[in-house]
Parts: sequence; C-alpha cells; structure tokens
Amino acid sequence: MTPLRRHRMIKIVATLGPASSDYDTIRALFEAGADVFRLNMSHGTHDDIAARHAIIRKIEADLGRPIAILADLQGPKLRVGIFANDSEELEEGAAFRLDLTDKPGDATRVTLPHPEIFEALEPGANLLVNDGKIRLKVNDCGKDFADCTVVVGGTISNRKGVNVPDVVLPVAALSDKDRKDLEFVCRLGVDWLALSFVQRAADVSEARTLAQGRAAILSKIEKPAAVDAFDEILAVSDGIMVARGDLGVELPVQNVPPIQKRLVRRARAAAKPVIVATQMLESMIDSPMPTRAEVSDVATAIYEGADAIMLSAESAAGDYPIEAVSTMDNVAREVENDPTYIEIIDASRKVKHSSIADGIVAAARELAEKTDIAAICCFTESGTTALLVARERPHVPILALTPITKTARRLQLIWGVHCEEVAEVERFKKAVINAVRVTRKYGFGTEKDQILVTAGIPFNQPGTTNILRVAPCAEHLIVSGEPE
Ligand code: ATP
Ligand code: MG
Ligand code: MG
Repeated sequence: MTPLRRHRMIKIVATLGPASSDYDTIRALFEAGADVFRLNMSHGTHDDIAARHAIIRKIEADLGRPIAILADLQGPKLRVGIFANDSEELEEGAAFRLDLTDKPGDATRVTLPHPEIFEALEPGANLLVNDGKIRLKVNDCGKDFADCTVVVGGTISNRKGVNVPDVVLPVAALSDKDRKDLEFVCRLGVDWLALSFVQRAADVSEARTLAQGRAAILSKIEKPAAVDAFDEILAVSDGIMVARGDLGVELPVQNVPPIQKRLVRRARAAAKPVIVATQMLESMIDSPMPTRAEVSDVATAIYEGADAIMLSAESAAGDYPIEAVSTMDNVAREVENDPTYIEIIDASRKVKHSSIADGIVAAARELAEKTDIAAICCFTESGTTALLVARERPHVPILALTPITKTARRLQLIWGVHCEEVAEVERFKKAVINAVRVTRKYGFGTEKDQILVTAGIPFNQPGTTNILRVAPCAEHLIVSGEPE
C-alpha cells in the first residue's frame, strides 16, 4: 500500500473541539485530508488542549507523517459567559440583559465578564453575537449592566463572541490569558501560533518575542485597522489568516470578498502562507451535504491560490466533521484539475525575481510546466526554500526534504508542499537519491519519470541555492558524475 499522501495542492485546517477529541475521530480527520489541526484557546481547558495535542502527536508517530498544530490565541475578544442550559433561544423584540454577575445565564440575561465594555457602552450601541448572527441594541446601561432589545434573534450559547463595532474599546493585543496560553502551548510544542484581533505590526512583534522561535506566527486579519496596516503586519508575520467571522462583523459583509482577494494575493507574493477561514461549510454543522454556495466559496479560495482553507465549528462542534473535510478534499481535487484553475493561478503569479534562489525556483517551475517532470524536490532546514518554490505555484507537487521535525510540521500549512523528514546527508548525490526514494515511496513518480532537485553546493550551507538538477527517478541511474 502506498503511504499516505494528498492528491491536491491546497491544504486543509480542521479545528478540534467536542466533536473531534478522541484518537479515532482525529485520525479519521487526518486520513480524510486535514493537514493542520487548530486548537482554539478560547474554548476548553489546558488539560483538553494537552490531551488533543498528545493524540495528534501519537497519530503522527503511528502514521509516520508530520502534522502541523496551530494554536489560536483568543486575543482581546469579548465573550458572554455560560448558560445554565448551555444555550437559549432569543426571540426578536425580547428584552435581554448583559451584566457582571457570575451566575449562569438564562433566557433573560447572561454575564459579559468585561467591566471595561460597560464603561464604554452607550444607549443605541449595537452588540453583535456569534459572528454577527444575533443583534442586540442597548437601551440603557450602567457600570455593571446593559439592558438590550433583541433586534435579530437566534440561538445564543456558552462563550459566544460579542462585537461592538460602534464603540472603540481600549484593549491590549495580548491579554494575561493570551500570555499564559502562549507559554503553555509553546511548552507543549505547537508549530503555528495564530494571533487574534491584530491591529498593528507591534502586536505581532510582542508575540514573537514571547514565542522565542518556538512557533511561527500567523496574524488573523479581522479588524479594519489590520486591513489598513496589512503590509506592515504581513512584513512581520510568518503567515496570515483571513478571519472572515469577525471581519464580516467589524466591516460590512460585502467588503469581505474583495479584502479576501487582496490579502491572498499579497501574502502569496510575499511567499507567506494564507488561510481562508470561517463559515466555509457552515451548513455542514448539522447537515451531511453542503449548500452549492458553500461549495462555490471553497472553490473560490482554491482558485485564488490560498495556501489553506479552514473548518471551524464544522469540525469542532458539528455532526459531520469527517464529511466536511472530505467535501473540501473533493472540491480541491476537482478544481485543481480544471484547466481554468491553471490559467487563473498562472495569471495571478506575482514574483519579483531578485535573488539567485528566486531564479532557480522560477526555472524549476517553468521546466516542470513545459516538460515531463514528476515533482520538484528541495532540501530545506528552515523551510525558506520550500516557501519560495510554493510561491511559484508550480503544476507539480513540491517535495520538501528536511532533517528537522519542526520544519516538516510547519510546512504542512504550505500550498503544494509534501514534507518528509530525511536523515541529514553530506553529499549532493546522496541527497538526490533520497529525493528519488521519497518520490517513488509516495507514488509521485515512477522510474520512467524525471524529477527536479534544487540545492546548494557546497551542500549543507544555508542560503546557497545555486543548483537545479534534472534527475532520473531511478536510483540505479544516479551513478556517477554527480556534483559533490
Ligand atoms: P474564533 O473567533 O477564534 O474563531 P469562535 O468562537 O468562532 O472563535 P471557532 O473555533 O471558530 O470559535 O469554532 C466555532 C464554534 O465551534 C465555537 O463558537 C464553539 O461553539 C464551537 N467550538 C469550537 N471549538 C470548541 C471547543 N474546543 N469547545 C467547545 N466548543 C467549541
Ligand atoms: Mg475570530
Ligand atoms: Mg470562528
């Protein structure tokens, strides 16, 4: 049996939660196509997080494939407390009170444990709950309560998020909880840290200082300020998430698609991964079939060339987590085989070739397009070379071979990259043989094929990509004359 690989370029991020917390389910999610698991620090205790983390690492060991873990820090997000019955229906026109008491909520009130917001609220302000699904209008408020009318009703449940778009709230980028969570997940060992409600580049730098290289930093773009300061934020981040849930509440919803397109293009041009997130297959929370519109939305992100698409409640709390992953996988395989997809991806490539490495990866992509090449293989310690190859959005898989486990895991988020951990080798010839073995092992090529290998000579010196080798995909043909 051929070992596990993907048959698509875009990656899938699946959020874990109550619907996906045991070994069998998480393993099934991985086998169905999830490349990255997201642990949302807004929900669940440190013990829950540690348990899921351990399960993922166990699956990784059992299947021999690297898996990326992304820890999503809550950030300064306002959330309601919990309800005695876990959830309540709010009817349009009903009265509903937010307060500071620590009693569980009911149909008439719930805790909003943020004293600063009561200070800032004014009558007439709109409160949006659960990514804007429920709308409350403030009639009267004081320093520890707000009496509201339900303008748009719906189900409200434990710890749902609250946005106050009309009011500027004085909040820091990282809360005390975030700092504790950051240290906790970095000690556990996560590959990516997502920062919520980033507003300026300095917010990212603060998290980077605390992470000390233990995890790569991904900025969630969900505030108007972050959209305005996007270039500066991108420059100091390792990746981006288009967090459409809060973005579509903080800004009019119709602004989200153009912003998504712009952010995806800019992140691609910078060779940094970009995730499109929220409500991609929302109806699959309680239905085994997605709507046509959702399928189109997933397809759009794929046509845009995003690195990854994400599932939130669909995989964390829905009834059909595995079906949701399979749906994304099926849509990706279909779209990526569409000739129009290739045209769109080629037309949206925007790369300034300024270094030798850029030129070599561009040449690799062109060769792969015009001749029969099975895969582009690169050796990478930090992962940078793989990011440059991925930026080219080549038509063939990218095999990233690395001796560093952390790099293999991190690269799972990157478009088109199949990562494999290989032993460090001293000689280029041995490296080419390794590339051939990995290509064959996963069925990316047969002995009739050729592969491309990029590397630096002298071998094993960082930052020296200076060679592009066209190699036969057969070990016995790589015999002599290979550069050292
Ligand atoms: P964020 O703004 O960070 O995306 P969110 O509340 O929207 O936060 P998601 O991770 O997007 O959270 O998941 C969507 C919904 O799925 C949550 O609102 C919650 O109802 C449910 N959920 C997700 N993860 C968990 C979990 N670990 N425990 C309980 N419920 C969860
Ligand atoms: Mg959010
Ligand atoms: Mg969400």
